[in-house]
Amino acid sequence: MHNVIIIGSGCAGNTAAVYTARASLKPLVISGHEPGGQLSITSEVENFPGFPEGILGPQLVENMKLQAERFGATFRHGYVEACELGQRPFRVKIDGVWEETRTLIIASGASARWLGLPSEQRLIGKGVSSCATCDGFFYRGKEIMVIGGGDSAMEEANFLTRFGKRVTLVHRRDQFRASKIMYDRVVANPKIEMILNTVIDDVLSGDDGLVNGVRMRNVVTGAVEDRPVDGFFVAIGHIPNTKFLGGQIDLDEDGYIVSKGGARTNITGVFHAGDVQDRTYRQAITAAGAGCMAAIEAERFLEHEGH
Ligand code: NAP
Repeated sequence: MHNVIIIGSGCAGNTAAVYTARASLKPLVISGHEPGGQLSITSEVENFPGFPEGILGPQLVENMKLQAERFGATFRHGYVEACELGQRPFRVKIDGVWEETRTLIIASGASARWLGLPSEQRLIGKGVSSCATCDGFFYRGKEIMVIGGGDSAMEEANFLTRFGKRVTLVHRRDQFRASKIMYDRVVANPKIEMILNTVIDDVLSGDDGLVNGVRMRNVVTGAVEDRPVDGFFVAIGHIPNTKFLGGQIDLDEDGYIVSKGGARTNITGVFHAGDVQDRTYRQAITAAGAGCMAAIEAERFLEHEGH
């Protein structure tokens, strides 16, 4: 019987692990399909306080893991297939094996939605990014392209004009899902050029292995064009990793956990942390803060229950 199982080993899960381990709760952390979460596919992290010279994303999450292990956390490579949350102890099925736990912290994150091109996947961290706040800084004075027609794409395009020589927004239709105010801001920004009815067929790279262009296709005319690009930002939404919860936890219409205040979910003893609930901030530091909150709530819950 575990005191706490933490699902996810990104910033939120690892921070929850540090806190619950220091509280002598011996947490079990399940790493999931993307150990280290989104930080593990980021290069330099320059906005996590405490690292004046910056730190590599994978190094930052690895440090958190080592810190949690030092206090007694156990990390298990594995994937949570199902949960039974109808009664306590909760049951969690990890690669076919059921484990029991008194509390559960869900920190399974949200995965960026990608276009799915092999070249895009290969060039993540080498010019391809899904996070303008994380990586925009690296494209100062460069050609930047943003893909998408929702609020995320509008926000990222606007934000990236702080850095880029020019930002080109490419959308597959000529209608926008984005709210009018966000769209209007983009239209009013002289550094943003819009290309509509256009999809990306390939992300191109040079001998140095970095992105240097894209191949675009107009879906109305069929015209194909190559264009030089240094930073390629995909902003077509995120997918929260909540399928394994099987409808037992209240989710919003997009699959994000609905918070019941603090780190609480609709089930007493089950807590949320990080991007699996947060669709607004999605930062390493906010995920870490949320992991801390979930850990403190789990600790207080266990104490209240006499464990
Ligand atoms: P979204 O609203 O679902 O928009 C996704 C966009 O990506 C759509 O324009 C969609 O095109 C496009 N897209 C999806 N798959 C694609 C593909 N395979 N190839 C090319 N384009 C593709 O997602 P979001 O912009 O991340 O926003 C999610 C939610 O967060 C929304 O409710 C939004 O309002 C909110 N949000 C709010 C703010 C803010 O207010 N500050 C900022 C960011 C996000 P189609 O339109 O053709 O489907």
